[in-house]
Amino acid sequence: MSPSVPQATAAPGPAGTAARLDALRGPVPPRSHDARTIAALTVNPGCSRRAVLDAAGVDKRKLAERIGFPARYGQSPFAITRGLAFEKQVKADNCAALLELLRAEPLRFDVPEHEYVDLGVEPEADPAAPVNLDRAARYERTRQAFARVAAGEPLLADHPLLRLDVGGRTAYVEPDVVALSARPADASASAPARLYVAEVKSFAVIDGQADPAKVGAAATQAAVYVLALRRLFTELGVDPAIVADDVLLICPTDFANKPSAHLLDVRRQIAAVERQLARLPRIGALIADLDPAVDFDLAVDPPEAKGEPGREHRSAVELTKSLTMIEARYAPECVTNCEMAFHCRSEARAAGAADALGRSVRDALGGIESLSEALEIADGTAGAGSGQHEAARLLRAAARAYDEALRVAPRAAGGSEADG
Ligand code: SF4
Repeated sequence: MSPSVPQATAAPGPAGTAARLDALRGPVPPRSHDARTIAALTVNPGCSRRAVLDAAGVDKRKLAERIGFPARYGQSPFAITRGLAFEKQVKADNCAALLELLRAEPLRFDVPEHEYVDLGVEPEADPAAPVNLDRAARYERTRQAFARVAAGEPLLADHPLLRLDVGGRTAYVEPDVVALSARPADASASAPARLYVAEVKSFAVIDGQADPAKVGAAATQAAVYVLALRRLFTELGVDPAIVADDVLLICPTDFANKPSAHLLDVRRQIAAVERQLARLPRIGALIADLDPAVDFDLAVDPPEAKGEPGREHRSAVELTKSLTMIEARYAPECVTNCEMAFHCRSEARAAGAADALGRSVRDALGGIESLSEALEIADGTAGAGSGQHEAARLLRAAARAYDEALRVAPRAAGGSEADG
């Protein structure tokens, strides 16, 4: 009997998609999305490779290491430890420091007394020996807590777990945030209190200024939380506008560890995240089109004898081959947003892809995909395709200007030598 040719074009159902994604990852625990990964995902929503790896929960950092292109970005262990210590300080004594910051200058929020609820632990357990809840229980507690907030109870919700649809799959986001019912100082007394998301970050604000890139990243992450919280209120039948467009950024001030609170308007980031999430490819359709041989099993069996390496389920060559079977859309922004960037950049350069030079070049080339094709059109050895005439005209003009510059340069150099 001849082998059957897969006809997988119809998207599998949710159970089929989940099973295929689990099989892609192999017998290792999945990596969860968080606000940081969702924010990064929206930087390059057209990349199927990243969408599949993230949906399958593949550890991209480990995958990049295994194929010889380790990622060179991310927080150092020192920064992570410092961040956790600062967060602990802000949240000590049921977030007393946080409430104090909101009531003090410059914010002067009208903040009622709040009941503090830690949604990450078993409510009946001894506080001295907290029992962490699993994801399902934690999400259910979060729903119940926010239903109480919607009914007007001021709850200070610590460790809530929220959900967001990412490419047709449910992703859980785990804010290190606290949601507060508060009223800004300039609001009228009759204005309803709104719910604020607080994002605790350990980068310093010095003389009132912080690193704009870090503030931008924090704003995008906070926007993911605002969006997820608004979706939860919509599900609860409550106007999502209860969640404020401003978020509270809590950072250490100057060179001390003294926390300060800053109000950030994240309307632009919310709109951007919403737009990009809507553009993400549906994961079921991507999975349906995937070659059955694609496999990112990163498991390593224990060594058979002491001192020997463990047996890798998939070699670097097999993992690289699987990657090449999923379309990528490399752009220079990938370097600071995706662990696979060095592999994808090398692949894009080897293929002479115009994408490797960035979005502005890709847009200017108007549908000319490869640099070799662009060069051929520029020197007239290839014709422009339909819709590429404007790009071709610009390329030929640039080629003429370049040739002219090369002709003039030696004359100018010769002239200056003679002058000297
Ligand atoms: S680095 Fe590669 S996988 Fe990651 S978003 Fe860019 S192109 Fe996609």
